[in-house]
Amino acid sequence: MRIYCDVCMDETEHEQIKKDTFRCRSCGSVVKVNPERDVEIKAIISTGELSEVGRVKVKEGEDLRVGDELIFEDGEYRVGEIRALELKDGRRVKVARAGDVRVVWLRNVSEVFVKFSLHKGAVTTPYKMVSSGETEFEVGERINIDNCLFRITRIKTFDGRVLKRGKAKAKEIKRIYAKFERKL
Ligand SMILES: [Zn+2]
Repeated sequence: MRIYCDVCMDETEHEQIKKDTFRCRSCGSVVKVNPERDVEIKAIISTGELSEVGRVKVKEGEDLRVGDELIFEDGEYRVGEIRALELKDGRRVKVARAGDVRVVWLRNVSEVFVKFSLHKGAVTTPYKMVSSGETEFEVGERINIDNCLFRITRIKTFDGRVLKRGKAKAKEIKRIYAKFERKL
């Protein structure tokens, strides 16, 4: 069995000497490994109003909790934040052991819809932009939307704050308010 050896600083051939104990065949040092099983759990990820079904891979004994981030897979990989955990008996909980979970509900934080309110004179136009969840938007920043230049005036975040200065990541933003400056 090939295991990473701390002494050899490489993956080396190991012989098993106990259930969870292995000896490196190169240097003779002994390592304990926890052969915890990986489980695949059905996952539903939402991006705005769009939901997709895939799965997450986690350790069976791992604790999952609302707010944690997991890698969602459905051929591609995305980062999702846990919104709810559905147990095998149908209950929805905030914390659970991975092995007890039937469905993980995720919010896509790798790609998010950023909502804007664009102000031009007395007219407000809603607008949506797909962005990486990590992209930062800053009050005062100028952005190009449909060949018009808008300046961000306020940023409203999911935790209820309204920023009049500073910046926030796309995944934290509920709505951006921007004012028309000029045509490009
Ligand atoms: Zn070794």
